[in-house]
Amino acid sequence: MEWIKLAKKVMGGYSLTKEEAKEILLTSDDDILSVINAAYEIRRYYYGNKVKLNLIINAKSGLCPEDCGYCAQSIKAKTEIDRYTLISKQTIVEGAKEAKRNKIGTYCIVMSGRRPTHNEVDTVVSAVEEIKNEVGQIKICACMGLVTEEQAVKLKAAGVDRFNHNINTSANHHANITTTHDYDDRVNTIENIKKAGISPCSGVICGMGETDDDIVEMAFALKELDADSIPVNFLHPITGTKLENMDELTPVRCLKILSLFRFVNPTKEIRISGGREFNLRSLQSLGLFIANSIFVGDYLTTDGQCADEDFQLIKDLGFEIEENPFEVESQTVAKTQ
Ligand code: SF4
Repeated sequence: MEWIKLAKKVMGGYSLTKEEAKEILLTSDDDILSVINAAYEIRRYYYGNKVKLNLIINAKSGLCPEDCGYCAQSIKAKTEIDRYTLISKQTIVEGAKEAKRNKIGTYCIVMSGRRPTHNEVDTVVSAVEEIKNEVGQIKICACMGLVTEEQAVKLKAAGVDRFNHNINTSANHHANITTTHDYDDRVNTIENIKKAGISPCSGVICGMGETDDDIVEMAFALKELDADSIPVNFLHPITGTKLENMDELTPVRCLKILSLFRFVNPTKEIRISGGREFNLRSLQSLGLFIANSIFVGDYLTTDGQCADEDFQLIKDLGFEIEENPFEVESQTVAKTQ
């Protein structure tokens, strides 16, 4: 496959077929630089050399009745993590101020649990209103589990820009990972968010026993859902979870997966998410030639590298931090019209 030619077609509006997408995963490891180079052409066309930073605040941890096999926060997992109910509004607001000082483009308020209570929604609504009044240009993403359309409308009115709800894996593989809710529950929440006018963020976790076809299906499902932001997580197996012994990713495999998501969803924010340091290891910098967004700081229950290392990585690549994500998005939209 002449990857660079395919990239040029994609920039001209061409949509990959599933067969072409799968070929990315089947490419010989020797050819990985050709694939990355082509994916970089697409990334550069839509996002230049900007990198968007995202920061998570774990606003409610553990105690979750669901049984997602990768998650340390499930009550089924035998893990040593902090467990607490929803933190105060003031702590959420202070976190946003700190995020703004650190050039974070999107502040992600994340809660464990199947779905939020009305009181929890009200606390987040009140915190977001204050952040929007006091902190200025920072995007707010909420991640609160399954939400109703009514709850989504309230969050939108408060100023929530984005809502994250990952499809996690393919429809075909979902029941192998989670049995307490199904794939359609996840899709319904994304649809509720969209109906409320909130930008949908939805992504995947790779390395959970899925096939190449499953990965292709995930990328096309997110294209179909029109997710604006696509976090690509790579499983960081946690002792005490059902998937604790899973070990199937290599750094090059991760780069192929990122490239596939870039080719299939060329205009979207592709974020290297959980498991970046653990799985990409010394090849993290190559990932940023494909993705245009990363998390800074810790993930929900695993540590990230220190923020200074991320800032250095971006600087060494000659990339720049995107300080105003509202601006870069309007430029991207203009290129797709
Ligand atoms: S991923 Fe979310 S829903 Fe699943 S167990 Fe963890 S906290 Fe609960």
